[in-house]
Amino acid sequence: SSCQSNDADLNMKVGNIKHTFIVMSGKGGVGKSTVSVNLALSLSMHGLKTGILDVDIHGPSVPKMFGLSKEKIKMMDDQIVPQEVYNGLKVISMGFLLNSSEDAVILRGPAKAGIIRQFLENVAWGDLDCLVIDCPPGTGDEPLSVVQLLDTSRSSAVIVTTPQQLATIDVEKSISFCKQLNLPITGIVENMSGFICPHCHAEADIFSSGGGYKLSQKFDVSYLGAIPIDMEIARSGDEERPYLSSFPKTETAARFGEIVERL
Ligand code: ADP
Repeated sequence: SSCQSNDADLNMKVGNIKHTFIVMSGKGGVGKSTVSVNLALSLSMHGLKTGILDVDIHGPSVPKMFGLSKEKIKMMDDQIVPQEVYNGLKVISMGFLLNSSEDAVILRGPAKAGIIRQFLENVAWGDLDCLVIDCPPGTGDEPLSVVQLLDTSRSSAVIVTTPQQLATIDVEKSISFCKQLNLPITGIVENMSGFICPHCHAEADIFSSGGGYKLSQKFDVSYLGAIPIDMEIARSGDEERPYLSSFPKTETAARFGEIVERL
């Protein structure tokens, strides 16, 4: 079909991206953007040429996490130029297109798909070892467009969940979405898993942890690891800095490091 020939075209254009990680979650507020941003930063700190693409149109939080909330799309020779932050990490966000969060409301499915296509096809990403895509929560239009536009032999999903969310069917929906689209699942990250006391460094299981591992067993997907509730993660978000840029050597940073090793 013509659709297939278009996709072949696109795959050639994004051919200089070696691997794409599509970060998904069943629900909002589980820390998907936090995980996306810190994984991208960690990959770039490991010396990999990395980009992060934020297609979360109704709540693009990636610009804020990098202190880029005032930035707008930059163009050069008809191509979109990504913002460069720490270690040359390249950033593109839906937020760069929007003047206010109300702007997002008028964008319907086809328009969103068009923008996503532009972000994959028409950005001067250069050669990338990995691209991290922060998708909106759920299994709607945006993750569908992303998966349909990418070559699934060079992309995979990272599913972020919290211990509370494990009791719901949302995570299972994300898993079956990937299976239906033949998108390999790199694994599950359990975020807000336990709390490390900043004073005594003991770990408390506020929402009980370990469910991510059980879920991964149940659905035969890999378990990538857990990130605890950490006050500094929340504070970094408020201060518009990625956690790992300020705290590269903490216990929590080591947890991000373990996840990156397993990617
Ligand atoms: P999502 O992208 O899933 O909507 P965010 O990444 O925006 O979620 O995170 C939601 C809020 O929770 C943010 O304020 C963020 O700083 C905070 N947060 C995320 N993960 C953690 C964590 N492990 N510890 C403490 N706060 C966290």
